[in-house]
Amino acid sequence: MKRNCQKCSDREFEVPEYTLEQKKMLSDLKANKKLGELITKIESLHNIKSIDAKFNFMHINTKYGKCNRCKVDNLKGEYVICPKCKALNFNWKV
Ligand SMILES: [Zn+2]
Ligand SMILES: [Zn+2]
Repeated sequence: MKRNCQKCSDREFEVPEYTLEQKKMLSDLKANKKLGELITKIESLHNIKSIDAKFNFMHINTKYGKCNRCKVDNLKGEYVICPKCKALNFNWKV
């Protein structure tokens, strides 16, 4: 599905249908700051452009419920726009 984050750019980017296993693995890589590896992984799992993989990576939450960009920590839903800063968050419950 195409999504966009109004805090980053108007550009829409592809967000693949990740499985729970993939979400777990990607969240783990994000938490460990394995950025290059994470982007390579997304590209190998799903046929998407590097730039889209990078946008995916940037929006994966490091902590469930907490906005990646501001202090809001009660986000609900999987792909959610933060009510305060308007950033898109991949708020995966993994
Ligand atoms: Zn963004
Ligand atoms: Zn926020």
